[in-house]
Order: sequence, then structure tokens, then C-alpha cells
Amino acid sequence: MELTNPAVVRALLEKYGLQPKKGFGQNFLVNPSIPAHIAAYSRSHAPADRPAGVLEIGPGIGALTACLAEEYDRVAAVEIDRGLLPLLEETLADCGNAAVVNADFMKLDLPSFLDEHFGDLLSEGGTLSVCANLPYYITSPVMMKLIESFPFSRPLPFSSMVFMVQLEVARRLAAQAGSADYGAITASVALRCTVEKFTDVSPGNFLPPPKVSSAVIGLIPHGGVREIDPMAPSGDTELELFSARVEELIALGFGQRRKTLLNALQPKVPKDVTAAALEACGMRADIRGEKLSAADFCRLAHAMEKTGAES
Ligand code: SAM
Repeated sequence: MELTNPAVVRALLEKYGLQPKKGFGQNFLVNPSIPAHIAAYSRSHAPADRPAGVLEIGPGIGALTACLAEEYDRVAAVEIDRGLLPLLEETLADCGNAAVVNADFMKLDLPSFLDEHFGDLLSEGGTLSVCANLPYYITSPVMMKLIESFPFSRPLPFSSMVFMVQLEVARRLAAQAGSADYGAITASVALRCTVEKFTDVSPGNFLPPPKVSSAVIGLIPHGGVREIDPMAPSGDTELELFSARVEELIALGFGQRRKTLLNALQPKVPKDVTAAALEACGMRADIRGEKLSAADFCRLAHAMEKTGAES
């Protein structure tokens, strides 16, 4: 079945009495080369010689799911819209290695879900990836859930997380510190992943076409805080506490973008402590959060520990 043919998409939706739901961000891919490329790019980050599973968020009518099922040994797809389940049963009838679960991804207990669907594959030395054409309204929460569901003291358990996102968000994720696009999510993601921007996708590739352009990006987990911070604590408990502090500094530092760090951190960190830490790091006293990379936030957190008084 040509799941990216607009006439097929319309006929399937009509057959099951459905319409694309705006509230669930339903814009279905109607260019066959895009889901095929996303699936191949995603699979290229997982070792070829080990069993590989992939978690998909929001399969829609199954266009990307079918491509993932060709590339991967196993697919588990989470779809919030119960109405799509009978349709997906039909479109994925030939994909015996793909399971669809009706759930809101944001409400899933992620580690238990992964254990249930991929536990045996992982215990045989298999690998896991994440892939999704994400509804724009939950892009950042989905990313932060994927990242924050796992301890900082271990690398994330994914070979890659590949997403179709709003172009603006892709630019933000791939931005360098100090640039106009750089934001809190850039720094938070950089604590755990490197970002690869893959390709831009115009609205005409979706049914219905969204108002904004999109892009495919890959978040490739690295060794975590221990990789980007040579002074990271060696103990797991200490690293968890330290990382939580860095996350808090990032959140505060970007909370009020126009404020200097000295003022933005003030609700939690006395000005004299921030001033001493900035000086110890060789940073200007009037620097703003958006100038600091994830590694700079780590350096600042260490310097604050030394000056001894972070709240
Ligand atoms: N993967 C399909 C494609 O590429 O054509 C559909 C992508 S569409 C942009 C987003 C999909 O995510 C929709 O099927 C929507 O129902 C689903 N979705 C939205 N919010 C969700 C959530 N919280 N949990 C799981 N699925 C969700």
C-alpha cells in the first residue's frame, strides 16, 4: 500500500471515518522518499551486526512505521489517537515486527515500556533507537522526557533519536552558544547528545500542509556530562546531584534572556557568589546565559561549589 500517496491517505481516513486532528498535530508525510530516508539515517547510527529495535512516537497512518519495520528487527510505536488503531492494523498488516500501542507518550512510564517491548532484545546485546515525526506542540517535552527519564550517570540507552521537527526548533537545537537561535533546550540537550541537522522539509510534503517548514535532526547520545566536563564527579550519586545543579543553572540562566547571569541566577544564587564564580571562570561579570555552552555551565557550577555558597 502506498502510504505516502495523498489519494491513499485520504481514502484510508475516509474508510475509517477519520479526519486529520489538529489537536494531535496530525500532518501525514506524503513524499515516499522522506520516511525511507529518515528510517535509513536512523538505522545507520545503530551497529549493523546487532539486533536493533526502534521506538516510534506517533505513527499516524504508518508511513514511517512501515519503513522502520524494514530497517529494524523490531518496532514499537506509541499512538495517542485511538481512532487510528484499526487503520494501522490494516496498513501494517504485513509488518509482523511492528507493534502499535495506544497511549499518550507523555504519560508513559518510559523505562518500563522499553523493558516490556525491548527487554529481551537488549539483554541479547541489541540496541535501541527513537524515531518520530513529532507534533510541533510537544517537541520539547518529548525530547526532555526521553533525556530525563534516564540517570545522568549513564549514557542514554539510545543509538540515536531522530526527529522531524519545526525548522525553527531544529535550528535552535543545532545552534552554537552565543547565536540568536541558542536556547535552554540547546544547552540541556548538549549535556547528553550531539546534534546532527539532516535535511529541511517544506510544508508541501505533508497532508494537510502545516503552516511552518520542518527539518529532520538526529540527537546522538554521547557519554554524557562525564564526556563534556573533565571535572565531573566520579561517583554516580555526586554526578546526579551535580548534573541537576547544572540543569537548574541552565533553566535560571535562560529564564529571563535579557538579564545578565548575575541577575538571572539571583533568586537562587547570591550575586557575590555568581560574581566570584564568573571571575574564576574568566567570564565577564555582565555575561548573559545565552553565551555559555553546556560545558561552560558545568565549569560555572564547579566554580560555584568552590566559592562554597550555592543554595
Ligand atoms: N508518523 C506519521 C507521519 O510521519 O506521517 C504521523 C506524524 S503526525 C505529525 C504526529 C502523530 O503523533 C499523529 O499520528 C498524532 O496522533 C500522534 N501524537 C500526537 N501526540 C501524541 C502523544 N502525546 N503520544 C503519542 N502520539 C501522539
